[in-house]
Amino acid sequence: MQKYEKLEKIGEGTYGTVFKAKNRETHEIVALKRVRLDDDDEGVPSSALREICLLKELKHKNIVRLHDVLHSDKKLTLVFEYCDQDLKKYFDSCNGDLDPETVKSFMYQLLKGLAFCHSRNVLHRDLKPQNLLINRNGELKLADFGLAPAFCIPVRGFFFRLYIIKALCQMSFQLLESQVVTLWYRPPDVLFGAKLYSTSIDMWSAGCIFAELANAGRPLFPGNDVDDQLKRIFRLLGTPTEEQWQTMTKLPDYKPYPMYPATTSLVNVVPKLSSTGRDLLQNLLKCNPVQRISAEEALQHPYFADFCPP
Ligand code: ADP
Ligand code: MG
Repeated sequence: MQKYEKLEKIGEGTYGTVFKAKNRETHEIVALKRVRLDDDDEGVPSSALREICLLKELKHKNIVRLHDVLHSDKKLTLVFEYCDQDLKKYFDSCNGDLDPETVKSFMYQLLKGLAFCHSRNVLHRDLKPQNLLINRNGELKLADFGLAPAFCIPVRGFFFRLYIIKALCQMSFQLLESQVVTLWYRPPDVLFGAKLYSTSIDMWSAGCIFAELANAGRPLFPGNDVDDQLKRIFRLLGTPTEEQWQTMTKLPDYKPYPMYPATTSLVNVVPKLSSTGRDLLQNLLKCNPVQRISAEEALQHPYFADFCPP
């Protein structure tokens, strides 16, 4: 820890505090994320450290770099590349005005980062504006990664086990119970209690974020609880029929909803988005996870036909 000089607090994380800090030797500015470990914990299990190593290898320009992991008896400090702000704060500063080119560029970078993770069988599972970091030069990076409960993730027929630190898991579960985690970016399958998550969970969140970008920071489905969340989704997209989503009624927390008809066009929902943009949004916001577009496919969508990556 002597390697870093703490500068200021930049975020009150769910697991601990995030500080801006300076490397005393290289003068590099970094973000330190402190994670408290439980008192009854005997330090960090080696399997968890292996998984953090996996995250350390997740090198991509649209994923915040994990430089280092410092481990003392009761604390774990993750050393990340520093970014200027998160997307939530960016929205607050843009006063309801975001030009279509910026929307497209952010969406492209979000999908690039996701395609990379998904190709490595890593899910994010908690995509939201607060977890997307933005740099002054318009770069977007996925952050707050993989520090979610361990899951068995089916990806293209394979089961890929991701074990993450026990302490983090416990904290996450506490959080889910206390409803601190926002529901706004959760897909209907997860809201109905689906336990086997696939990459489609992130694609739904990407859709919600896309609409929020297009509306310069107005969230698409700001639900108050699970029930209200599902109602908001179905009122806009139409309640799925058995034909559209056969396995829906078999989900653990499934309950029937009134058969709302789908809104015929998203024009009134995202008025500033082009017709190709609306088509992409429609493909991200498929209630049936099997029908949701993948990150790789989304990058090939006509919406990006006129986009030149920098
Ligand atoms: P938590 O899992 O507790 O939500 P995050 O990693 O999302 O923790 O960090 C909380 C907040 O701290 C973020 O929403 C962001 O505002 C800020 N933050 C996190 N990492 C960085 C970073 N590398 N650079 C700049 N700000 C960051
Ligand atoms: Mg976060």
